[in-house]
Formats: sequence, structure tokens, C-alpha cells
Amino acid sequence: MTGVSSTTRRLLFICDDDGVRCSMDGLLPDWTVTVARNYLEGIGEAGSGSFDAVLGFVGIGQAQLTDAVAGLREAFGDGRVLLCCYPEGEPVTRGALLCGADDYVICPLDGAELVNALVTDDAALSEGGWGAGVAELRAMGSVVRELGSSPSTLLGRLADLVRVSFGAESAAVVVHGTTATSGASDHEPVLREAIVSGGQSIGHVALGCSASGGFGDDVADRLVGYAGLLGELIEAAGHQRTYRELAYTDSLSGLPNRRYLMTFLERLLANVARDGGEVTLLMFDIDYFKKYNDAYGHKAGDEIIRGCGRLFRANCREHDVVTRFGGDEFAVVFWDKGGRRVEGSKHPSNVIPIIERFRESLQAHQFEHVQLAEGAKLTISGGLATFPTDADSVESLIDRADQALLRAKQDGKNCVFLCGEHGSKALGREGAAEVG
Ligand code: GH3
Ligand code: MG
Repeated sequence: MTGVSSTTRRLLFICDDDGVRCSMDGLLPDWTVTVARNYLEGIGEAGSGSFDAVLGFVGIGQAQLTDAVAGLREAFGDGRVLLCCYPEGEPVTRGALLCGADDYVICPLDGAELVNALVTDDAALSEGGWGAGVAELRAMGSVVRELGSSPSTLLGRLADLVRVSFGAESAAVVVHGTTATSGASDHEPVLREAIVSGGQSIGHVALGCSASGGFGDDVADRLVGYAGLLGELIEAAGHQRTYRELAYTDSLSGLPNRRYLMTFLERLLANVARDGGEVTLLMFDIDYFKKYNDAYGHKAGDEIIRGCGRLFRANCREHDVVTRFGGDEFAVVFWDKGGRRVEGSKHPSNVIPIIERFRESLQAHQFEHVQLAEGAKLTISGGLATFPTDADSVESLIDRADQALLRAKQDGKNCVFLCGEHGSKALGREGAAEVG
């Protein structure tokens, strides 16, 4: 990598998502951002030696991500390669760290967080004639900003904090087997202290040589104090990540909630509108749920809601998204993983066997605290709508599936309807598929 200028830095941004690209506008005032539309184009650009860092967006169903990241690493040498993704893409993106990406950030993008993750040489922390105390506070500020970000970014900032605070040539923070170093690359520790969190040792902090010829007499005591602080910060970071996850999770069922459904569908429909393909939404609602609540109590009702979610998850494909929409209503998104049209995939008929499997397992399931009368069965009613055939937006897709659900209820319940004024019944009371 070639550094281009000391003031304006150059970022290569690989992104095929219009929304994410727009969110970058004005976010990095000190950077010149060049956009590449896909990873192939990006790999070509990265090898030109014109960039200080590369940021790659990982979309839903990003094809061949590991190959793309490995190619990028090869083209960009040892420069900073960062990825960004939406929360649901985090597991896949984290996996790409093994193929050469340095770190990742979660969308929506935040300017300060992005700069922190993009810039590794923290000259700004120690240069400019600022005292060591100010540099230490700035390092601490950057740790606090990173609390909710990925573990490797946070550990990197903690290593920066320790190095700057002690005036060391290098520092390393090792937690649960992940190592982050700051400063000299040939880090040789001269002091080391265990990091304890929740009463257990979770790793250690190590200090390299002093940058000014020698540490003070109190260095060992100070390192004990810093190890304690690191333990607290790592614990706080865990809470922060948990809060983020909670905002998108329904606490009763553990399923993603309506907020998650809306953000997920917004992005999925935008991708499908661009690349082709179909998305089918099923809205389903438990029949006579109020009666179960009245007859067996709220606790039993809760167990039925949880069980419905679990059973649907067990019967659908891993990438289908099962959410609790609210009350006894659920929404399931069926989509073709890979982003492009899947050969032979035909919505909504290809999802009907999945729904049928779920209905069968629901009827066979024995719920705790619920003793159904002989022959009685727990049933659901559902409505199906498909994008782009039946709807052109998230709102209209939900609306159309909801209308079909209403028709199923009006038709006597325990059935699934397709949307449309004359939408036919997809699954009848006997469970026979009526759509080919
Ligand atoms: P229908 O067959 O037409 O769907 O009617 P229903 O009896 O299932 O009742 P409806 O779907 O209209 O209302 C759902 C009820 O679910 C209303 C509310 O008391 C109950 N409910 C909503 N959230 C919860 C919850 O978290 N736990 C429990 N136990 N009950 C809930
Ligand atoms: Mg109901």
C-alpha cells in the first residue's frame, strides 16, 4: 500500500447497495472516497497503490465472500482492509476475518467509529505536542466509542490505550484467545498481567519496552490497575452488544421482532428488485388463541407462542427468517439465498410444503401445561404474498399477506390463503396443497 497524503486519506469503498453508498455521503470529510461496484472491480483498484484503506460492504447473500476478501488482501498487501455489514450479516462477515480482513463495522455506518476502525497508526494520539495525560484521555475516548463494535476493534483500542498510557513501544491485549497488538510489530513483552472479568481470568495484558528508556517504579502496580479497568470495559462491551441484539429480538420467543423484520425486508426487497428473484411473506396467526389463554392461563399461552416459533424454525430452511410480528401473529420471509434467481424456484408454491410440515408438527406437538380435549388440535391461519408479483414495497407486501390471512380467518380458520381478491386457498383444513 502507498500512503498518498498526510491530510486527505483515500478510501476505496466496495459497495453494490445504493442505500449503504448514500449513507457514506459526507461521513468522512477528511477522506476521498472512490466507489467500486463489486469485489472484482475493487480488487483491480486495490492493486493500484492509490488507497490508504479499503472498506467492503457485505450484503445479504454475498456470493463468494471468502474468495473476494482473500483476493482483496492479496491485491492490497498489508494495508487496512475493513468490512461492513448489517447486523444479520455479522456471522458471515466475522468469518471473513480469517481470510484476510482486518476488522468489520456494523451498519448503519457511524463516521467516528469508521475512522477509528480505518486508521490504525494512531499518530494523532501522541503527536502534536499534547501531554501524555491528554493522549491517554483520547485513547480512552476511542475505547468508549468502540464499546459496541466488534471484539477485535475493541481489543485493538484497549491495546492502544495501554501503550499510550504507559509510553510503551508496544502493548498487547489477549482475551479468549484473540490477540490485539499496538505499536511495534515485534512486540516482546516485559510485563504481563491477567485480565479478570466476572471473577474469572479471561486473558492478559502485556507491555513492551518503554519508549523513553525506562518505566517508573510503579509500573507493575499501574499495570494491575489497568488490567482491572480492561476487565470492566470488556464486560461493559458485552452488555452493549447485548443491548443491540435485544433491540431486534422478541424477549418471549427469542425470535427476531417486527423491527428486525422491517429492516431485513427493506434491504432484501431492494436487492431482489435489482438482481431479480422473488420473496414470499407468510403472515400466520394462531386460531382461537384467546381461548387457550382463558382455559390454561397466560403461562400456557406464552408456552404456545414460544413453541410455535420453535416449531416453525425447525421446519423451515436455515436462511428463512421467522419473526414474531406481535401477539399471536408471526411473519416468515422465504427468499432464495445467493441473491440471484434460483433455478426451479417458484414462489409461493415452493414454500407450501414447508408450511404444511409446520402445520403437521404443530398438531402433533404436546405443549407443556396444555391438555387439549381428545381430538382437538392447535391450528393456525395464514396468508401469503409474493414480491414483486403481488406487492412493490415492504408495507404493501405485509398488507397483502395480512389481507390473505384475514380471508383465511373469515373462511373458517385452519387454512392458508394466497393474496389477491380472488386469491385461492393454498392449504385447506385437511392440509392438502391446493396450489401446484
Ligand atoms: P383468532 O382465532 O381470530 O386469531 O382469535 P384469537 O382467539 O387467536 O385472538 P386474537 O388473535 O384476536 O388475539 C390474540 C390474543 O393473544 C390477544 C391477547 O390477549 C393474547 N396475547 C397477546 N400477546 C400475548 C403474550 O405475549 N402472551 C400471551 N399468553 N397472550 C398474548
Ligand atoms: Mg389468533
